[in-house]
This record gives sequence, C-alpha cells and structure tokens, in this order.
Amino acid sequence: MEKKTVVVALGGNALLQVGQKGTFEEQMENVYNAVEQLAELVLSGKWRLVITHGNGPQVGNILLQNEAGKHLVPPMPMDVCGAESQGMIGYMIQQAMHNVLARRGRPDIPVATVVTQVLVDKNDPAFQNPTKPVGPFYTKEEALRLKEEKGWHVVEDAGRGWRRVVPSPDPKAIVEKEAIRILVENGAIVIASGGGGIPVIKENGTYRGVEAVIDKDLAGERLAEDVGAHVFLILTDVDRVRLNYRKPNEVALSRMTVSEAKKYLAEGHFAKGSMEPKVKACVRFVEAGGELAIIASLNEATAALEGRAGTQVIRDA
Ligand code: ADP
Ligand code: MG
Repeated sequence: MEKKTVVVALGGNALLQVGQKGTFEEQMENVYNAVEQLAELVLSGKWRLVITHGNGPQVGNILLQNEAGKHLVPPMPMDVCGAESQGMIGYMIQQAMHNVLARRGRPDIPVATVVTQVLVDKNDPAFQNPTKPVGPFYTKEEALRLKEEKGWHVVEDAGRGWRRVVPSPDPKAIVEKEAIRILVENGAIVIASGGGGIPVIKENGTYRGVEAVIDKDLAGERLAEDVGAHVFLILTDVDRVRLNYRKPNEVALSRMTVSEAKKYLAEGHFAKGSMEPKVKACVRFVEAGGELAIIASLNEATAALEGRAGTQVIRDA
C-alpha cells in the first residue's frame, strides 16, 4: 500500500501544560507524550510524517534571557531567537522520536529537524499594523523608552503590563521546501517550520530576517502543500471546533465543508489568533487540493485520522 503523508501541527500544549513553568524536564515529558502517539502513525506503516509546532512560551523565554543578559552578551534579533527556538524544540522532538522508535524496534527510521525560513511579503499590510505580543512584560516607562530607543511598537496588554507587539504577516512560501521534500520522500520524519518559521523577506534575490511572527498553523498549511501532504492535522487543546463557543447554544462540529467553514469564519465564530487561523489554514489546505484537514485534541491523533475524533474540514459535496 502506498503511504500517505500527514503534516501534524502541534499546539502549545504539546510542549507546556497550563500552570507549568517550562523547565526542560517538564517540556521533555510533554514532548514524549505527543511523540508516543505520532510514532504510532509511523509504525502503522500507513503514514509519512512531518511535524510542525508552536514556540510562543519558548521564544518568549529566549527574548527574556536576551533582555536580562544584554549587559553581558549582545542580544540577538528576533529572527535569530526564532531560529534558536526551532533548534531547541526540534532537538527535543527528534531525540524523543528516535528513542521511542528505537524502543519499538525501529532505530533505523531517520528523524531530522530543518531550521526553516518562511518567506513573507515586505508589503504585507501586517507590517503597518503590528498586533502580536511577544517577549517580556515591561513597566510603562520601560516600554516607552524601548519604543523611543528601538522603534518598537508597544501596547498595554490587558492590565498585565506593557509588551512589544510585532507584525504577523501571511506566510507565502517555505524557503527550505526542496530540502524538506527530499528528506520526506526518502523516508525521514521531518520537524520543520517551527513557531511558524523564521520570517524572511527577499530583496534583489537575497533573504533577510525580519522582526515578525508568523502564525504556526498558516505556515504549517504552506508546508503541508509543499510536501504534497494528503492530510493536515492540527492538534490542540480542544477536542472539536465549536460554533457559538462558550455560549449556551454552543455546538461541537465533527465536520464542516469548505463553504460552511468560510461562512462560520465570516460570522466570527472563531477567536482571532487561536481558532480563526486554524480554520483558515484548513480551508486553504483543502482548497489547494489537500484531501482532508482536521482539528483535534492532542491525545486523539490516531482517532482523528480514522474519523473518530476532531473536526474535519472537507471539500464541498
Ligand atoms: P495552539 O497552541 O494549539 O495553537 P490556541 O490557544 O492558539 O492553541 O488555540 C486553541 C484555542 O482556541 C482553544 O483552547 C480555545 O479556547 C480557542 N477557541 C477559540 N474559538 C474557538 C471555537 N470556536 N471552538 C473551539 N475552540 C476555540
Ligand atoms: Mg495558536
């Protein structure tokens, strides 16, 4: 039987659970839980696997370390911090994956992380309107000084303090797509486009990192298209997508067509920055020719692929 390819996007809860501090041990334990399940997919012999993941708390901590250590070592720009977070998280996932597969008698399956740049358009309107909070909280005075000194955009974040906000442009292309494709076609499990990828712009044929954050589900969708995935599976901390979320008339959906999903998006059922980009990413994937996109809970990966869990986004009948 010909194997199918699935791109799995791991949400924040795959690395850090609510209330955890983010020690290495905590994160590694969470990673093992996620990887045990994903290894099942590979061991079933039915799937080629590509993994992408979020990096919010991890890159936040790296930015905090940079800020706290700036009198000792030169702080790095955001794109470099994003690359650091891809390496750190990719390392944990690839080591856990190898160890789980080796225990199950398959130490031969190659696993690799690709540090991934994602092309964005320098004329993307997001650059005129930074919305995504990143890094540490500051006092008002500090925030205004950083605005002055570095030209940062800063906002007050829900009474919790001041934060830097950066643009969240739309991902246009995965720069390393050929390298990733070669690995996947040759049987490797690949971890790529972590944290939505490192945002880069292209000028006169040359790439350059920019201070921005790309949504990991939208970038994961580009990745899924580029590797010719059959299924794009988004694993998060809710079991199903809901209409009228957290209202008395809430309904959990087991499937929606692309047209239905677009209608629900327009009606505002999905929160910006969390569920909205997931549903948009699923719509894009299926419209681009993908078989099926699914949003499901982290502990139901296999059930979701077998149609027993999650919310499926399918083509119109
Ligand atoms: P991840 O780290 O997996 O990307 P997010 O927090 O970005 O997680 O997105 C998942 C969250 O989306 C859920 O925890 C849920 O609170 C929220 N959410 C917003 N709107 C909806 C909806 N309509 N149905 C289900 N969950 C929703
Ligand atoms: Mg998210």
